[in-house]
Amino acid sequence: MSITLDYHLQELQFKHPFSVAGNTRNHTPSVLIILKDENFTGYGEVTMPPYLGETPSSAITFLKKVSFSGITTATTIAKFHHYIDCLDTGNNAAKAGLDIAFHDLVSKRRNVDICSLYSLPNEKKASSFTIGLDTPQVMLEKTSEAEELGFHVLKVKLGGLNDKETMRLISNFWKKPISVDANQGWKDPAWSLDFCHELKEMGVLFVEQPFEKSNLNMAVWLTSRSPLPIIADESCKRFTDLEVVKNCFHGINVKLMKSTGLFEAHKMLTYARTNGMKTVTGCMAESSCAVAAMSHFAALADWVDLDGPFLITNDPFEPVKLIEGCIQVPRKIGIGVELL
Ligand code: MG
Repeated sequence: MSITLDYHLQELQFKHPFSVAGNTRNHTPSVLIILKDENFTGYGEVTMPPYLGETPSSAITFLKKVSFSGITTATTIAKFHHYIDCLDTGNNAAKAGLDIAFHDLVSKRRNVDICSLYSLPNEKKASSFTIGLDTPQVMLEKTSEAEELGFHVLKVKLGGLNDKETMRLISNFWKKPISVDANQGWKDPAWSLDFCHELKEMGVLFVEQPFEKSNLNMAVWLTSRSPLPIIADESCKRFTDLEVVKNCFHGINVKLMKSTGLFEAHKMLTYARTNGMKTVTGCMAESSCAVAAMSHFAALADWVDLDGPFLITNDPFEPVKLIEGCIQVPRKIGIGVELL
């Protein structure tokens, strides 16, 4: 059956200004993608953190290149992904939006969810909640929001001047699991190793992206010595990065907006696990659309980091819920959410 593509610009508003090492934002641009055949509608979204280089205008330029003349819901996901991937280089988030919407449409037509589409068990794992970079005291205060929302795991953004003080304050208060994301903010390998030992004592689960993304020598140095798993985020976007990254980090954080969507995220998670790496299923600032889609890959994740919808005030989709700390989608078919 023939497919039509429609898209709308939107802006996701943050509950609080969101800071990581390097920048602060109040909102994030997003493009809603709608694919329709005669009976079903599939949804996707493109979210574009500025540091990744995509913009609403680049996304729309890319979407205008897409033609569904040779594509139907009978087209395999692999073939569809290959088609959009060959339209242009880059544009990972725009490709992800299309990939998510196509998965939603195809799985609705087959009356299954994304887990079933990939023959995965419908496992639930507790998602972390992000504490953005701020002063140690403000970051400590923000942990009460994680508690109120019902999260069982914290992800603390570091890479500032007060990392040790922040972690001492938070770990004294928060007695459940914590992970740490330096967002490329650490500069000194010896200091980082010393801190990793301290973080291990605090019960931290893993350390994400300690150094600048292209500085793989420092990553290798720390990975070979660290008592905690060192996870690549900015250093690993797509499947092709894994050939190098698997020798530099203990694991990877896979996000749909980096990986070009579910098809390649599945490939990355499977490859990483086969090669003895740890895996995180993560997200950008995203609505319930992309987060619901990724939540189906919990069985392939050591850790889940899907708090996007809990950080925004204007989710355009039926919200995913948090049940015993785990992401739960409201519907059993497709990605699991409908547009409100
Ligand atoms: Mg990260």
